[in-house]
Amino acid sequence: MANLIEVVYFVAAALFILGLKRMSSPRHARDGIVWAGVGMVAATIVTFFIPDLHNFGLMIAAIIIGSGIAFVSAKRVAMTDMPQMIALYNGMGGGAAAAIAAVELIKLATHETAMHGQVAINLAVLGAVIGTVSFSGSLVAFAKLQGWLRKALRFPYQQAFNLLVFAGMIGSGVYLAFVGADVSMIALFFVLALAFGVLMTVPIGGADMPVVISLYNALTGLAVAFEGFVLNNAAMIIAGTVVGAAGTLLTQLMAKAMNRSLSNVLFGSFGAVSSAGDESVEGSMKPIEASDAAVMMAFAEKVIIIPGYGLAVAQAQHKIWEMSKQLIENGVDVKFAIHPVAGRMPGHMNVLLAEAGVPYDRIFDLDEINDEFNTTDVALVIGANDVVNPVARTNPDSPIYGMPILNADYAKNVIVIKRGQGAGFSGIENALFYSDNTRMLYGDGQEMANQLIQGIKEL
Ligand code: NAP
Repeated sequence: MANLIEVVYFVAAALFILGLKRMSSPRHARDGIVWAGVGMVAATIVTFFIPDLHNFGLMIAAIIIGSGIAFVSAKRVAMTDMPQMIALYNGMGGGAAAAIAAVELIKLATHETAMHGQVAINLAVLGAVIGTVSFSGSLVAFAKLQGWLRKALRFPYQQAFNLLVFAGMIGSGVYLAFVGADVSMIALFFVLALAFGVLMTVPIGGADMPVVISLYNALTGLAVAFEGFVLNNAAMIIAGTVVGAAGTLLTQLMAKAMNRSLSNVLFGSFGAVSSAGDESVEGSMKPIEASDAAVMMAFAEKVIIIPGYGLAVAQAQHKIWEMSKQLIENGVDVKFAIHPVAGRMPGHMNVLLAEAGVPYDRIFDLDEINDEFNTTDVALVIGANDVVNPVARTNPDSPIYGMPILNADYAKNVIVIKRGQGAGFSGIENALFYSDNTRMLYGDGQEMANQLIQGIKEL
């Protein structure tokens, strides 16, 4: 039986890896999720056959309650709230790893069973630190994405206070690993780790959340892998390592997209928000009617469309592609430019455009397209804000300073579709909207795309 369990774990691990591989393209990303899901179901079922397991009732109850909550919430969640949901589920993974560590450490303290040697104890403590920080940090990230925590929280001597909590957490962890486990020290250790996760995440404001979310994703994977060693569970080790590696790569990509080094993200003035970022911008916003915007685009040679979070809110992807097809029929060269942190989760815009059927050869990354704006007649910004804010180039005090942006302002004309004066995620004013060559097309993204379609039809 033990061999059979190992074989199933191996197959499950292979399915995780192959599933991840299939997620690399929107063409077969759905299959990838199914493959990995089948692997997860197989690993869960075979776990019931591990010798000397008790608590079957609790295991089944946990699976029913967990799956029930996940099923209902995943069915109900709006597409625009998906990033929060991912942050929450990610946090649960870290929390689960930490809970395993807590149980093993308590068993050690009460001499119920000893873990197999010092290495296992060290890994349990390490996994507990990482999992707990990732758990409470992800909950704060959830609150920020949900809009419950809009401002970055700062207080005097914050860095020193954080350092103190960090030192306490490491100190109590080292005590547990090398001196001995006792229940009150275990409690102190977890309280400090929970507090550190919160303290580390609350000061992060502006647009740095993508880096944080991917970092916690990587940390959760690592915590699960460490606890896999503790439980001697191959599937957990492999799945955790895969998530840890994928999350690390994603963190690097997101850090690159924000133009921050990882060490700056971890130890620097991480996402510090300065009031100078709120400085007012000169000029005025000039509105335009949809019919005039339609004329501008229909008679252009080249139009680049820049989607952002507002496209997801308005669910305007189908309409904007319908409009693009009209323009293409009129001989206009239409391209889509995607910023790596546009929307609220990595790949958010790619998913929406793929859903609408936009061909992949019309979709370009920032690096591929940024030099083309100089020769573009119209840059159509729909629901994007931070990713086209020129202040990232000009104002060193801005929270998004240094972040590469899409050079929409270099186009001959810019049309911005948004509902009103709403700020972007980082909460700062956008100089692009006040620029001489920019016209504001006020309204909901889908409704405005509809009006543009009508406008082009009537020409
Ligand atoms: P953004 O800066 O959040 O701006 C979105 C804009 O869309 C708003 O200014 C809003 O203005 C407009 N909008 C909202 N609903 C709309 C609707 N129904 N129709 C038309 N417009 C609508 O978006 P972004 O340029 O995509 O930038 C993404 C931001 O999120 C970055 O700061 C990024 O760092 C952050 N972030 C990204 C991720 C990620 O992984 N991609 C994760 C977390 C955070 P109105 O209210 O006036 O309409």
